[in-house]
Amino acid sequence: METNCILVREIGSFAWTRKRLAPPAEDEVLVRVEVTGLCRTDLKIIRHGHRDLVLPRIPGEEVVGRIIARGAAVDDFEVGDRVYVYPGIWCDRCAACRQGAQNLCREMRIMGFHRDGGFAGEVLAPARSLIPVPDALDPDTAVLAEPLSCCLNALELGRAEPGAQVGIWGAGPAGLLLARAARAMGAAAINIEPDPRRRSFADGLPAPEDRRFDVCIVAVGAPEAYQDALAHLAPRGRLVVFSGLLPQADGVPLSFNQLHYYEQTLVGAYGCAYRHGVQALAWLADGTIPVADMISHRLPLSDLETALRLVEKRESIKVLLYPEG
Ligand SMILES: [Zn+2]
Repeated sequence: METNCILVREIGSFAWTRKRLAPPAEDEVLVRVEVTGLCRTDLKIIRHGHRDLVLPRIPGEEVVGRIIARGAAVDDFEVGDRVYVYPGIWCDRCAACRQGAQNLCREMRIMGFHRDGGFAGEVLAPARSLIPVPDALDPDTAVLAEPLSCCLNALELGRAEPGAQVGIWGAGPAGLLLARAARAMGAAAINIEPDPRRRSFADGLPAPEDRRFDVCIVAVGAPEAYQDALAHLAPRGRLVVFSGLLPQADGVPLSFNQLHYYEQTLVGAYGCAYRHGVQALAWLADGTIPVADMISHRLPLSDLETALRLVEKRESIKVLLYPEG
């Protein structure tokens, strides 16, 4: 089995190469990639590296495709089935797994980070990481399940309950998905976004001086956004650390007295558990969370450099990539 794919050789560059994928192990399937999503994290791992990245690697953690081969022990899926691939592999035994936080599994292996991902014609995945895509759901919508899953995890950790006021810093793909998912949960949500091009997708901003939110979620990798969010956190509010910061920008001044006197909570959010993928696909399939207007660019995978520049310059919302052949 041979396929065109991208191999990250060193931080800051990538190369196109041919790489032979092993045949699926007995509990694995081989998926022909129909569509893969590009996210800011891919830009970060290609340009700057990432804590979880093991080189050399094919990136890409947002994958929808059809099964073209399966291992002998796989009986829940057939060749030809369209599936979404939950990007994690977890152990089910460690403390994090037992708490339902598979994304924090001590043995977590993420597709596109620890093992090869979707910027390729084909990808190998364990059958237990698959989620079936209903026939009525188109692949371009289904692939948004990955970023949406991460948003559902963040809203769960921030306790975005019905009636809660949720302020979301950033109106990129994640910011928009966070707002739509928060509303689907019965919360009131606005995006706070200084960029007028992106503001057209969202309401609000900048946050009025006197406005306070029960949940503040920062979906933009800027220390200033974290400071602004802290200043707009209500008593007993939860600040969700959703967007990572580059190492040189990590270090936001924080008043512990503010947390003390107002009983506020800081909570990190990173990735998603399998169950978030199931919920995300269900909400995409029944139209609870519309995403069609968020897909700004569709490009062949071979135009990855163009796609990366669109994300870098914030000229896109969601970019989808299609392997050729
Ligand atoms: Zn585990």
